[in-house]
This record gives sequence, C-alpha cells and structure tokens, in this order.
Amino acid sequence: MGELAPLRAEVAQACRVAAARGLVDGTLGHISARVDDEHLLIRCRSDSDTGVAFTRPDDIRLIRFDGSPGSTGELDGYEVPNELPIHVETLLAHPEHRAVAHLHPAAVVAADLAGIRIEPIYGAFDIPGARLARGGVPVYPRAVLIRTAELGKEMVAAMAGRPVVICRGHGITSAAATVPQAVLQAISLDQLACMSLRIRSAGGTCRPIDESDWTDLPNLGPAFTAEAAWRHELARLEWR
Ligand SMILES: [Zn+2]
Repeated sequence: MGELAPLRAEVAQACRVAAARGLVDGTLGHISARVDDEHLLIRCRSDSDTGVAFTRPDDIRLIRFDGSPGSTGELDGYEVPNELPIHVETLLAHPEHRAVAHLHPAAVVAADLAGIRIEPIYGAFDIPGARLARGGVPVYPRAVLIRTAELGKEMVAAMAGRPVVICRGHGITSAAATVPQAVLQAISLDQLACMSLRIRSAGGTCRPIDESDWTDLPNLGPAFTAEAAWRHELARLEWR
C-alpha cells in the first residue's frame, strides 16, 4: 500500500514530536491514524525499536481494527501495542476522529494526582489550549492498562465527546481530525498542566480567567494556529 507512505511518515513524525516535547518517555505511547472504517495505521514495536523519540516510518504498520495485519506482511517482525483498544474504540466512537495520540505526559499525570482540575487559567498565552480547557478536560479515573475493548469503551465513555481525556495514574488520549492536531492538543494540555503545577508551587490558586475576556480571545483559524504550530514542531525536530 504505497499510497499510505505519506501518512506513515506523518504518524512517525508525530511520535517524534510528542517525544521531543516530553509527552512520552522511552518506549511507551503510540499514535494512530484512521485509513478507512476497517483499517488504521499505528505505531508498532519491533526487535530493533529504540523508543518513541526515534520512530521510523517503517514502525507505522497497517492493521485491521481487530488487531490483525491490514495486508500481507504488515505485522512481520512487528507487534501491535497492548493498548490498541484505546485507538480502536476512540476511532469507532466518532467518525470525525481520524487520529488518536495515546501519550504519558508526566506533568498532566502529576497535576491530576495532585487534585488539580485542568481549567482555562490563562487566555492569550495559548488560545487553543485555553479553549480546550474551557470545554472541559475529563478524567478516566482508572489507572489500568487499557488492553480490552471493554476498558477502551469505558475510557471513551469518560471522554464524553471531548477531544482529550486524562487517564488517572497513566497518561492521556487525544483525538482529532488530523494527526498534527491530536499531538498539538496534547502539547496544549501538557502546558496547561505545567502552568497549573507552577502556580501551585508558587503558593497560588488556579482560577479560570474572567468570563468577560472570552469575547477577545478569538479563534484565529487553522492557518495561524495548527498549521504554523506544526511547522514549528517539525522545525524543532531538525534543530535538536
Ligand atoms: Zn498507556
């Protein structure tokens, strides 16, 4: 399936961006992209795997929603992640979900365990992040490995139609219409958590911004936000 090469490359890049941003450490965490109603591309593991930060396009394999190879040889030498149900159940839940990032950002996990709720504590500092927080960031309260369809459905139910969910004592799941957007949401969520932890460490209280400020926090459109932000993330990878 040669026509999938650009999407494989994009998912691999997204894995490297997530690792470069500290949203995953070592070998844990994976990103997927819907191909059609029965197939997805997902970051798999192999014997030569050196971690998410070093993901290669070849590590992104085509599989069916049931975990079997999407075409001949796709899983030769590769293993599907244990937490495949996170991706499958999230994709099945909403047709507009075309990409899923399951990551383990330490700051988000720490903030949740510290009892901090993610709220729009800032505005123009990161408008997409503020909007994400304003809509609510739900928490799936179980710290389990999500390796069955039943647990995947439970997590999706906790997600309650929002684009991101915090898995307590575990990580996050971010779903979006594009692979970059799934990772950008995760970066914004991580920044909200880092700022919340900083405010608490400085002895402050995390409070939502004034309701009247929202009229002057416009959606600046994807060209200004998502597209420019993704170009920046890719440039950072080169620079490192
Ligand atoms: Zn996980």
